[in-house]
Amino acid sequence: MKVLVAIKRVIDPYVKVRVKSDGSGVETNNVKMSMNPFCEIAVEEAIRLKESGVAEEVVVVSIGDNSVQETLRSALALGADRAIHVNGPTTLEPLVVAKVLAALMEKEQPQLVLLGKQAIDSDNNQVAQMVAALTDTPQGTFTSQLVIEDGTAQVTREIDGGLETLELSLPAIVSTDLRLNEPRYASLPNIMKAKRKPLDILEAESFNVDLQPRQQVVEVTAPPKRESGEIVSSVDDLIDKLRNKANVL
Ligand code: AMP
Repeated sequence: MKVLVAIKRVIDPYVKVRVKSDGSGVETNNVKMSMNPFCEIAVEEAIRLKESGVAEEVVVVSIGDNSVQETLRSALALGADRAIHVNGPTTLEPLVVAKVLAALMEKEQPQLVLLGKQAIDSDNNQVAQMVAALTDTPQGTFTSQLVIEDGTAQVTREIDGGLETLELSLPAIVSTDLRLNEPRYASLPNIMKAKRKPLDILEAESFNVDLQPRQQVVEVTAPPKRESGEIVSSVDDLIDKLRNKANVL
């Protein structure tokens, strides 16, 4: 079984994001970038499937400029076999990403495609569902447990009020939720080995997909600053402040 894992490079989740002074977006220059955390979970799941003998090959793909190669190398260091860099703009709309991935599925013919449930930079939560629709492939989203058995993918999802288990015929599209697994760290020898693993570069334009954006970011604003707290001297003082300052009583 071949597993294709789509990974996105995003601002590191532990970095404090700064909005650009012109409000056109967030600052990415000289900012630490990492693999999207939900994509790390997808890579981990694919590697576990390989380690348990269910999968034979794990291929990772990322769409973006040359910098995504660093993210692809970190996936190779974690245990992926091969990487594909689809060279194109860094900011692509989910539909464009989905169309490129759908075209890549046609080329690679994976039995399982793993994606993060959402990219933490744009919070779209759209690509997995769109790839499934474009390729007419069964989908399991927000997966917290995955079992591949007898040509099917059993996907457990945390839904309101309990767990839902779906059985999907393969090939299938699966998006990962937080509790699916806990990703490992790459060891130093594996980081060294990853440098020699194959990384192919394909041009996004070669996929015959219209890369032009259809939406425009009008403005990005930082959340309002939180006012500092106040220590009150007595319960009466507290009630007075709640009534006359905060106006909540
Ligand atoms: P989104 O729908 O944009 O929140 O992204 C969901 C998932 O789609 C991500 O976790 C990745 O698995 C995949 N994805 C989004 N953008 C890219 C990209 N530029 N390259 C590769 N995979 C991507």
